[in-house]
Amino acid sequence: MTGTIIKSTGSWYVVRGHETGELYRCRLRGKFKNKGLKVSNPLAVGDGVEFDLPEQSEGAGVIHTIAARRNYIIRRSVHKSEHAHIVAANLDQALLVVTLVSPATSFGFIDRFLVTAEAYHIPALLIFNKSDLYDEDTLDYQRQIAGMYASVGYPSVLCAAESGDNVAAVAALLPGKTSLLSGHSGVGKSTLINALVPDLDLKTAEISAFSDKGKHTTTFAEMLEVEPGTYLIDTPGIKELGLVDVPAAELAGYFPEMRALLNQCRYHNCRHVHEPGCAVIEAVDQGRLAVPRYESYVSMLADEDNRH
Ligand code: GDP
Ligand code: ZN
Repeated sequence: MTGTIIKSTGSWYVVRGHETGELYRCRLRGKFKNKGLKVSNPLAVGDGVEFDLPEQSEGAGVIHTIAARRNYIIRRSVHKSEHAHIVAANLDQALLVVTLVSPATSFGFIDRFLVTAEAYHIPALLIFNKSDLYDEDTLDYQRQIAGMYASVGYPSVLCAAESGDNVAAVAALLPGKTSLLSGHSGVGKSTLINALVPDLDLKTAEISAFSDKGKHTTTFAEMLEVEPGTYLIDTPGIKELGLVDVPAAELAGYFPEMRALLNQCRYHNCRHVHEPGCAVIEAVDQGRLAVPRYESYVSMLADEDNRH
């Protein structure tokens, strides 16, 4: 049988079987190591697996094969002694919930998320929430910001999760995909999830009933089933999209609008800050590259310098 891991407690897995559509409680056969990856967990939500059915109906299935991952996100442990762990695998897109009021999400935070998504090769989109609180000026500003992000490859949706206004446009992004949902606390992520996932409490309870039969440890991330084949991954307590160390020299390559200019700088090792003949600075000066995006780049570059 093949299936997708929808919940992991570290030692037990809840698997949605592809052939039957049923849920199975599984464990992993023997020792498994992620080749070349120093992580504490062998499997994460979103992983595709092959497993054998339990012999008795109350027994656990046995996972024997893990499908190659298209991508995955990793979270470093807060405790230095512990390994990092894989949060989720095989994501189709990452949605960042942001707000322009109450509270306003900073460009720095948004761009850091987008750079990380680029580094993970995961398409990213922005969800502007709480539109009901935007006055005319804020709505104008939102259109401007949305235009700026759209022009560099990040589509967005404006909605109000609480009233349900335009949540249908968010829902339309999801079918058949596994989407990661992130956002600063307070932006309305939980409200949005409740609006997007019908019978959320029932489904969560059903899945918990399966995994809780096994030894209970912390869950790493929740994979919520909107409908079969359509998943939302919520990462409670993770406001940033995992962590990747982007070396300073590679950072500009994760800004799509800068990437196209890099071979036009006079110096091949140009940092695009104050070097003469820099194509990036020229683009900023000529209004072809948005100032907030460039400022985020400079700020991330400084952070990277401070780390080393
Ligand atoms: P989370 O921390 O991102 O999960 O945010 P919550 O979903 O808990 O929402 C935080 C607060 O924002 C709550 O008081 C919600 O009622 C409120 N909220 C969420 N969505 C909206 C919205 O679209 N409009 C308004 N005005 N408030 C919202
Ligand atoms: Zn340059």
